[in-house]
Amino acid sequence: MSGKWHLCVGAGFAGSVVARELAEAGHRCLVIDQRSHVGGNCHTQRDTETGVLEHVYGPHIFNTNDRSVWDYVCRFCVMRPYVNRVKADTSRGIFSFPINLHTINQFFGRKLNPTQAKEFIAAKGDRTIQQPKNFEEQALQMVGRELYETFLYGYTKKQWGCEPRELSADILKRLPVRFNYNDAYYDTTYQGIPDEGYTSMISKLLEHPNIEVKLQCAWQPTMASEFIKIFYTGTVDSFYGLCFGRLRYRTVYWNRAIYNGDYQGNAVINYPEIGPAHTRVHEHKHFAPWESHEKTLVLTEFSKETGPEDDPYYPKRLPADLDIFEKYRTLSELNPKVTFLGRLATYRYLNMDAVIAQAIRVARDYLKR
Ligand code: UDP
Repeated sequence: MSGKWHLCVGAGFAGSVVARELAEAGHRCLVIDQRSHVGGNCHTQRDTETGVLEHVYGPHIFNTNDRSVWDYVCRFCVMRPYVNRVKADTSRGIFSFPINLHTINQFFGRKLNPTQAKEFIAAKGDRTIQQPKNFEEQALQMVGRELYETFLYGYTKKQWGCEPRELSADILKRLPVRFNYNDAYYDTTYQGIPDEGYTSMISKLLEHPNIEVKLQCAWQPTMASEFIKIFYTGTVDSFYGLCFGRLRYRTVYWNRAIYNGDYQGNAVINYPEIGPAHTRVHEHKHFAPWESHEKTLVLTEFSKETGPEDDPYYPKRLPADLDIFEKYRTLSELNPKVTFLGRLATYRYLNMDAVIAQAIRVARDYLKR
């Protein structure tokens, strides 16, 4: 590589979008990834036995309120409309989830209208909590103890491996509570899944004469001198050799099974109580209702702490982690040659659309410099 190349470490959305922006502006970019495929954790591939498009690192449903991000991704794929509608399997029955008017009426055996339901749930909420300081307080204030214990407490404890009162209230803000029969999982305006999956889409994003991709190529600090600029999307603690300690992430893993026909009749069923060890079951063919397959691929999801060999997924962001992260962030500001972006490098619970928006912003700011 001559000194005129830029390097993007990681071929997920963050690194690939930066590379594309730079390439279109006439700069040459090498994108490296330690895995054998592009797409990062959005990677999809056809399962050979069933023909089903598998979201290899867990299902991703693209959704955003940002029209410009939607238009951006639609340049590289055919986006099929897809609305995620999740059910919750509990000891009291199967419910619509996230909590909506149907859930409330089913759960409490009522026939409330939106106004009545709002008053009913407000009366259940813990009014002694003024400013919720954590996930549990936020939930108790919003929906009261019964709904919290059935739908939120166990799932959160299983997913994050700690008590919900140790977690930030922001995590709960990802979930809507609705007083109508809208049972879509996301509140966003644009929702879909790429026709041929995310890996095909990201491959198209990377198809540019100014971009070169090298897979199974891990970042080495010695590479830095060969490039004029580095955009790093891996974990920030590993970039610095864990000098301030390891940042904690949760990881997920799956039991994989293949059946004939339709296993559960829906793409996602959550198991929010403590009883079952898993958090949810995904039936991947239902993420592509425009396809038809006789066999079905079913993945039962479990969570655990991320060990050195595991893929990090969810930044835990407990106070001790944020203290460590702040040290890495301060250190990173001393080296303008490297810019950190994406979920892992910024240690934030970012959705795909936020990662894309951030990558476009980072690249354009860099080009303006
Ligand atoms: N959550 C829950 N019950 C559920 C699903 C989610 O309590 O049935 C909580 C849990 O704490 C989770 C958070 O809501 O971490 C956000 O859920 P989301 O579905 O956004 O998580 P993701 O899709 O990113 O795994």
